[in-house]
Amino acid sequence: MPVNCLYCGESIAEETARCPHCGAPSHFQKKGFRVGARARFLILFVIFSLATLIVALLLPR
Ligand SMILES: [Zn+2]
Repeated sequence: MPVNCLYCGESIAEETARCPHCGAPSHFQKKGFRVGARARFLILFVIFSLATLIVALLLPR
């Protein structure tokens, strides 16, 4: 999937580490990592919330 370079605006491949036109490092590579990290964080957050809820319900009052 081609994307536009942030520096020179030329069309480059998304998985390219560096822009072949101006040599600038591509910022689109890290996008996938950030999305993956965010998804992992959401899953951990849901698990933590459920664990807290279960503990709160099981605790004697
Ligand atoms: Zn460029």
